[in-house]
Formats: sequence, C-alpha cells, structure tokens
Amino acid sequence: MAASVVPVDPFDLVVVGATGDLARRKLIPALYHRLRDGQMPDSARIVGVAREDMDADGFRRMAGTALDEFAGSDAMDAALKHRFLSTIDYVPMDVSDASGWTRLGEALSDDEARLRAFYLSVAPRFFGMIAEGVHGAGLSRPNSRIVVEKPLGHDLASARALNGCFAGHFDEHQIYRIDHYLGKETVQNLMALRFANAFFEPLWNARYIDHVQITVAESVGVEGRGPYYDGVGAMRDMVQNHLLQLLCLIAMEPPARFEPDAVRDEKLKVLRALAPVTNAEDVVRGQYASSPGIASYAQDAAAATSHTESFVALKTEVANWRWSGVPFYLRTGKRLRARVSEVAIVFKAAPHAIFPSASGRSTQNVLAIRLQPDEGITMGMTIKEPGPGGMRLAPAVLDMTFAKTLGTADMRMPDAYERLVMDVIRGDQTLFMRGDEVEAAWEWVDPITRAWEERGDRPALYDPGSSGPDDALMLMHRDGRRWREISA
Ligand code: NAD
Repeated sequence: MAASVVPVDPFDLVVVGATGDLARRKLIPALYHRLRDGQMPDSARIVGVAREDMDADGFRRMAGTALDEFAGSDAMDAALKHRFLSTIDYVPMDVSDASGWTRLGEALSDDEARLRAFYLSVAPRFFGMIAEGVHGAGLSRPNSRIVVEKPLGHDLASARALNGCFAGHFDEHQIYRIDHYLGKETVQNLMALRFANAFFEPLWNARYIDHVQITVAESVGVEGRGPYYDGVGAMRDMVQNHLLQLLCLIAMEPPARFEPDAVRDEKLKVLRALAPVTNAEDVVRGQYASSPGIASYAQDAAAATSHTESFVALKTEVANWRWSGVPFYLRTGKRLRARVSEVAIVFKAAPHAIFPSASGRSTQNVLAIRLQPDEGITMGMTIKEPGPGGMRLAPAVLDMTFAKTLGTADMRMPDAYERLVMDVIRGDQTLFMRGDEVEAAWEWVDPITRAWEERGDRPALYDPGSSGPDDALMLMHRDGRRWREISA
C-alpha cells in the first residue's frame, strides 16, 4: 500500500530565524521531503529571515548544505535539490528594526488569496516583537498563520502573557503551537488504535489498566545548551509539554469527531483533572554526576552549585471516573542508559490463575508505544510455549507495527516536522496545542517547581549511563511496581 499524498495549495512560508539550528536541521529538510513527495508545489515560496547579512544565493547555499547534512543521503537528487532551492528567498533583517518588515512585505506575494505562514524559529523573547512587526506592516491577513515552538512560557504567568501578546494580533485559529512529539507517526497511531478499534476502549480504564509509564530518556547531556538549560530544567523543558501531551492522548475521552477543538477540548479536560503532586516522595529530581571522561551536569552548565534538574520522575493520577486509582508514572532525563521514548500501558494480571504453578506465571499484558529510536507498537502477551512439554506459559511480543502488512517496511518514516508544517498550510490545528492547554499544563507544574524553590535543596546526583537516581526506582518499588528497562 503506497502512502497517498494530497498536494497543498501554493503558500508563502516565512521562516524567522532561518539560519538557526532548528531551521537547518529540521524545517528545511522537512520541506525538501514534502516537495520530493509531491505535496509542496513548486510555486510555493520559502522566505528565510535572519540577522545574518547575505543575499538569497548565500542563503540557498546554506540551505543546500543543510540538506546534504540532514535530509538523508539516499534522498539527495541534484535536479530535485535545484528545484527545491529555487523556491527559496532570503531577507536579512533584525526583527527589532521596523523597516525590515516593509522589506519583507515586498518579498511576499501580493495575491490576497495565497496563504501566508510565519514560522517563529527564534528565541521566545522575540515573539512579541515579531507579532507586532508582522501586524504593524500589514503583513497579516485573515488567512495568515503564525507558528511557535516551545518554550511557551516559563510558568503560568509568563505563558498567559505570551498568549495575550499573540491574541493582540492573531485569532486563536491562526496560532499553531508546535509540540513535535504530536507529529510523530506512532503518536497518531495511538489515537487510531484507541478510537478506530472496538476492543481497546472497553479495557481502557481503571478496571483493567494497572498503571501507565511514560519515559523520555536521552543518552546525551545538555551539550552546548548548558547555560540555556540551566534556567529551565527537565520539568519545564520536557514534562510540561511533551510528557503531559502524551499523557493527554492516553487518558482523554473519545472526542466526538477527529477535529481540532473536539480533540483539544478532551485533552484540556485531562490536564484539568490531573491530581496535584502534593506528596514530596512522589516527585524525584536528579542531576547527572561526572564519570571518567564524562563531565557532570554542573560542569556542562558551568554552574557548580546549580539546583536545576536534568532528570525528573513523578507519579500522578487523572482524577476522574475512568482513571481513579491508576497511577501515571512519568520520567525523563539526560545522560541516561539509552535514548528511548516510550509509553507503556500495563494491564492488570488475569483475575484468576487456572494453570498449575508448574506451568509458570502469566505476565501482565503491556501495550508499549515506542516513539524513538524505532517507532512502533507492541503488545506483551502470555502464550503457551510451543512443543509437546505440556502446558508451559511463556511471554511473547505481538508486533503491531504492521510495516509488512502496509507495505511500508522499506518506506522512510516522515519526520514529525514534515507532517506538522503541512498541517499548518492545510489549516489543521488538531496536533497543535491551544493556548488554554498550555496554561492548564503550567498550572499543574507551577506548584511542583515552586515547592522545589522553597525547599532550596539540590537534586540527587546519578551516574551517567544509569536509569537515574535510586529514589526514582523507589518511587515505583514502594507501589510494588517497577520501571521498564531503559534500553535502545
Ligand atoms: P538558534 O540560536 O540556532 O537560531 C536563532 C535564529 O534566530 C538565527 O537564525 C538568528 O539569526 C535568528 N535571530 C536571532 N536574533 C535575531 C534578531 N534580532 N533578528 C532576526 N533574527 C534573529 O536557535 P534554534 O535552536 O534554531 O531555536 C529557535 C527556537 O526554537 C528557540 O525558541 C528554541 O527554543 C526552539 N526550539 C529549537 C529546537 C531545536 O531543535 N533547535 C527544538 C525545539 C524548540
């Protein structure tokens, strides 16, 4: 089965911060692949905006290098690359300089019907300035869109201020807040599994589910981002957005329709139902120590007495009828054993054991949704061990990736940004966060970070390459459960 591609209408996409890391590593390669697959028309235009003083040819050379580096060597084709680079223009400007916006306007199509999107791939301190600049120069039309990346605030107050600043110039239906985890194929597959199959939903509740684990582990440290990261930490950088968004998709009620506000209304209800974490033992902070040849967090961040967490594990509950009593365990951290992102739904054991103890024990069913490194979905089952040796039970894994069935085994998995940028152009906000969702997430996070600040203690140290601090293991052991292995 070949993936069908529906071409989008011609558009002007302004990438503000086009020479930066995100644009070069993700956005430019994503757009190249969409042109390659016939989804982005040749008449579309990508207009790079950044401080660097160069002409359009200079930026095309930079974009070409980014493609060589990040688009995948098997995807490179000289003629296609030339076609793609022909869609690119560049306007050097400082976003604080009002005259720059007029120059940008001259580079854009004056066809009123043509869609315009502004992708803000710059630090958030520029967001307000850019929204005002775009508006002030009359560049925004009713069909224009603005796309922003995390961090969307530092706490509830700053998130509200940011939302207020966008709302001053754009309607909510024009604002696309990206959480790139939601663009991952497997995350969307989670919704298909839940809502397009009859047999999961009856089991999807406190009666049959024992607990849920969400892990986003990285094997690298903070790398060159140390000074930036030190003002943020794992709770704000990962839990407030990616992990809570994943939790929402697992816990939400079936929306009436797969439409942006129907889905986002249900996610918002989950965020508002999250039980506050009031027990200090239910949240564990960690910071990676040094090991031979590996710098500690404090060294990476150049902050010897830093209180910033590079790891967090916590237990929460979605306090509603469906989930009452089901713990949701979340953990994320840097310099852990492997790079892996996974959601695991752990079902309760079969209620009654009919097999003699000599047969062995049945294992709990686990539905594991892996987002990286290899996207896929598996179901842990108990089966009879094959052979004539009597009834012996054995664990087996049912692979529900369906790559072979769908004929996609050799197909390149599109990067999340490919999907999300095309959704912006199509005007589909389903996979983007609404302003009230972002605020509700901060409302839950704020008391936790505030309590840490008030306590003033430092996170527990953990060894690089480990699963985090021992207290994180205890968090589950106390409940008679254990984390799944962090393994690639
Ligand atoms: P970066 O520092 O690599 O690039 C910043 C870009 O902004 C450059 O093109 C620079 O020229 C431009 N810029 C800076 N000041 C400017 C000014 N006054 N006027 C015009 N242009 C200016 O940053 P990045 O890593 O690409 O990140 C961009 C945004 O995306 C940040 O908010 C970041 O938090 C967010 N983000 C990045 C990633 C990533 O993978 N890099 C992932 C998620 C979110």
